[in-house]
Amino acid sequence: TPDIRPLVAGNWKMNGKRDQLDQIKAIAEGIDADLADHIDTLICPPATLLYVATAIAEQTPLAIGAQDCHEKQNGAYTGDISAEMIADCLADYVLVGHSERRALHGESDQTVRAKAEAAKAAGLVRVICIGETEAERKSGQTLDVLGRQLSGSVPDGATAEDTVIAYEPIWAIGTGLTPTVADVTEAHAFIRAEMKTRFAGEGTSMRLLYGGSVKPDNAAELLAVPHVDGALIGGASLKAADFLAICKAC
Ligand code: PEP
Repeated sequence: TPDIRPLVAGNWKMNGKRDQLDQIKAIAEGIDADLADHIDTLICPPATLLYVATAIAEQTPLAIGAQDCHEKQNGAYTGDISAEMIADCLADYVLVGHSERRALHGESDQTVRAKAEAAKAAGLVRVICIGETEAERKSGQTLDVLGRQLSGSVPDGATAEDTVIAYEPIWAIGTGLTPTVADVTEAHAFIRAEMKTRFAGEGTSMRLLYGGSVKPDNAAELLAVPHVDGALIGGASLKAADFLAICKAC
């Protein structure tokens, strides 16, 4: 297995006004040379803070990303933001297919794939999120669901450089519940095998993140699971101290 450089990513969701920018600054300044040597770090603030966040993080190891993009470059899509606009804000990443987008905005695998393609066309790294519901897990459908989401949402030609996969069991997001180490092990081994089958060497070195109630006190255990190459963090990424503690556990 190749040496994969971990990525610890924060998703602020619809949280953060200008007074939260001091946390971006604290995170950027808190990533010391030793951390920056070993891991990549990313914060995805709301779109309203994106451009000023990239200015704060400029010349630091912290990367900035958006939480969603539209699939088209521009046009009559009131309220939407294109991948090109995100790149124009000097951001480097975008999340696509987060479960909240899939559930609350009706995004299908096909839509997520189109967004992922738009992200790549704009030069952004896309973090493609997948994950099962509690009902799907309870009825033994987890791997079927993940397989379907991967084949539907991940575009052809994906590479380790332009694509990150985030496995986020929906029932673990924002709930304080986490899957067992055995469950994470099974899911990540499955995702790795699927990516390897489809993308060969690129699939072998593509980063696979775990997300769902990662906190400073459970991060080390979750991040030690084979094929967990980092984490996607919601709530605990809003506080610099918590986010940095998770980075250090990585
Ligand atoms: C998320 O929404 O991507 C997430 C993982 O949230 P939390 O860490 O708050 O569960």
